[in-house]
Amino acid sequence: MNLAARDAAVIWHPYTQMQTAPAPIPVVRGEGSLLLTETGEAYLDAVSSWWVTIHGHAHPYIAQKVAEQIRQLDHVMFAGFTHPAAVELAERLLLLLPPNQKRVFYSDNGSTAVEVALKMALQYWNNQKNIPRRKIVAFRDSYHGDTFGAMSVSSRSAFTQPFVAYLFEVDFIDVPMPGREAEVLNQLEEILVKGETAAFIFEPLLLGTAGMVMYEPEILNRLMQLCRQHQVLTIADEVMTGFGRTGPDFACNYLTEQPDIMCFSKGLTGGVMALGVTTCAAFVYEAFLSTESTKTFFHGHSFTANPVACSAALASLDLLLQPACKENRARIGAQHALFRQAFSSQLGVKACRQLGTVLAVEFQTGATSYFNQVRNQLYQYALENRVILRPLGNIIYVMPPYCTTNEQLHQIYDVIRGMLTLIKTA
Ligand SMILES: *Cc1c(COP(=O)(O)O)cnc(C)c1O
Repeated sequence: MNLAARDAAVIWHPYTQMQTAPAPIPVVRGEGSLLLTETGEAYLDAVSSWWVTIHGHAHPYIAQKVAEQIRQLDHVMFAGFTHPAAVELAERLLLLLPPNQKRVFYSDNGSTAVEVALKMALQYWNNQKNIPRRKIVAFRDSYHGDTFGAMSVSSRSAFTQPFVAYLFEVDFIDVPMPGREAEVLNQLEEILVKGETAAFIFEPLLLGTAGMVMYEPEILNRLMQLCRQHQVLTIADEVMTGFGRTGPDFACNYLTEQPDIMCFSKGLTGGVMALGVTTCAAFVYEAFLSTESTKTFFHGHSFTANPVACSAALASLDLLLQPACKENRARIGAQHALFRQAFSSQLGVKACRQLGTVLAVEFQTGATSYFNQVRNQLYQYALENRVILRPLGNIIYVMPPYCTTNEQLHQIYDVIRGMLTLIKTA
């Protein structure tokens, strides 16, 4: 029996309607930007396998570091014990982040990095006894993960509908799109003056799952300043934007303000191992220091700071900091910009956006329900052309590994051009 048939008998896939979904593609090998199947086809991974694989698949340097680590130390619990990989990663990461970031808390993925950030922010206020601040502010269209806390601060959508009764109440503000900045500042101020807000969580400059929605650094600085005036903690969710995705090492590098808490995962290990990181400023950490055990941050996971995952992150960081990686990110950004300039005026293209290595094309469409069919058609069309692109509704985006060559980028752009004819004839 082939892999897809065996899969069909035992596996339940994420974000997949198992009754109607086509059989999954059986991938047996990865190499650079390519994924190779059981039967020898090569697919170009234009979305870095759900936005994680920043240096390409099966990178020999990361593989070597991971193998060395497993032979040396596979795992050790992280309460009462420590190990070199966790300490070195924390030291090196903090050097790259805004200078106010002073402590690293490890977990397992992006959702847990967000859960940790939210719990940190809520307990920060709880530890100050008589200051009741229990509310979180978030962007209405945001996505912060699939666990209950992360879902609570994410947009209310079809994804969260079955659980809506169990999600905690959040104050939502609109995404400050160009032209709407003043309005959104007002929305935030009206909430903050009530004095109930513990924290504001946001995806800096780029809301991924919302459809690669982009907004300007200047307005985020202003929103963060407003939070600071009201002593509200700011949480930057860099799970997707971190590690070079938007051009510089972190999206927060575009800002003059520094967030109080930051979340990372996805590209952290080069997409090789599951790992989450939440960092915070010294004053957040210090609010948990006490002789009272009740002020302890009671959170942890079996695999907190797993040494193998930390080693993968260290190896990924080595690659990220090489000049070649910066050059590749700039090269991809420049190619995207050329494509965007030529393509945005095409009939059928509603908008073309870009930030660093992320390119998004929004197609003109009619009704949204109708578009679901077209979305699947676009997805299948790309696969038939051996390119992996996962449209978000009527939005197609490219988020390639940084090793993707210009030739491969042009292969991706050709597929997007081809989609335009599909849209026109649909
Ligand atoms: C993907 C994502 C998450 C969730 O991360 P997982 O590892 O999938 O749990 C959180 N925040 C943002 C901005 C993301 O893109």
